[in-house]
Amino acid sequence: MRVYNFSAGPAVLPEEVLKEAADEMLDYRGTGMSVMEMSHRSKAFDDIIKEAEKDIRELMNIPDNYKVLFLQGGASQFFAEVPMNLMKNKKAAYIITGQWAKKAWQEAQIYAGDGAVAVASSADKTFSYIPDCSDLPIPEDADYVYICENNTIYGTKYKTLPNTKGHILVSDVSSCFLSEPVDVTKYGVIYGGVQKNVGPAGVVIAIIREDLITDDVLPGTPTLLKWKTQADNDSLYNTPPCYGIYICGKVFKWIKKMGGLEAMKAHNEKKAKILYDYLDESKLFKGTVRKEDRSLMNVPFVTGNEVLDAKFVKEAKAAGFENLKGHRTVGGMRASIYNAMPIEGVEKLVEFMKKFEAEFEAENS
Ligand SMILES: *Cc1c(COP(=O)(O)O)cnc(C)c1O
Repeated sequence: MRVYNFSAGPAVLPEEVLKEAADEMLDYRGTGMSVMEMSHRSKAFDDIIKEAEKDIRELMNIPDNYKVLFLQGGASQFFAEVPMNLMKNKKAAYIITGQWAKKAWQEAQIYAGDGAVAVASSADKTFSYIPDCSDLPIPEDADYVYICENNTIYGTKYKTLPNTKGHILVSDVSSCFLSEPVDVTKYGVIYGGVQKNVGPAGVVIAIIREDLITDDVLPGTPTLLKWKTQADNDSLYNTPPCYGIYICGKVFKWIKKMGGLEAMKAHNEKKAKILYDYLDESKLFKGTVRKEDRSLMNVPFVTGNEVLDAKFVKEAKAAGFENLKGHRTVGGMRASIYNAMPIEGVEKLVEFMKKFEAEFEAENS
């Protein structure tokens, strides 16, 4: 039996995709082998990666002057790849909206020291909001401005992109990848680990404007981490994460079938509204994020009582709602409701929360 899986990542994938992968496990389309077992230089895999690229380009409406790379190393390795590949002046502006943005900033400091500056932060209120980014003190010679667009741990999301004052925008979209339409032209680099909303762990997808892919990288940059190496070889410089790319390709097809990113957005808004509406009316549960900055993907909430939070998580698990425990730095609960979470999952969760609240009221009145 499958549970309702609210994990922040690796996370729920569409059941259809998993079933298709299961059907193709022993014999992928007459090749007599699994995609796991085939050469990355084979015709079958070449078709898989090319088709995946074609589909994500179509879904996100990616212009021809952007490359799509399928990489390894997780989003965390990409934190280093950004300064390695983009720093010419060893200056960059980071907006600190949570742990992932902070880690990226710390990584940049390895290369740029004080040149990697935090130009805004929401640390003062446990990252429960997105700071005003309309007029930030971005150094004129900054090589780029860096954001984490959806904050997986704290449940915030940029509703408008920062004013970069003409600088390149680099965005980590790990936990909101393909959750709604994006205007790719507003970014220099969009990237994310796929294990939150797109596929199995082990793949990073990076969409990079071509003019930012050069040989002019920081001294000491490993061959493999130079974007030009990967771009020149269509992500096949070395063995890519083949099986993960294959599953991502299936998820792209699934999203297309669901109606593309506009439809995904509508589906995600509908789901999130069910949960947020209840959090706003509940006397027991409270959302932790400023309303206008709420994420459609990650919804943290608390009762304000740690013992009660733990009781809720335990009873929810027993009822088939998995992975609702909040991140250790926020406490409480977090429901990650990515693309593949069905609407019934959220409806049933809210039903369960209402029942829990009613029982609590009864016991304490
Ligand atoms: C999970 C996550 C990361 C870290 O991803 P890894 O692939 O584990 O390195 C980075 N950024 C965001 C926004 C995340 O959600």
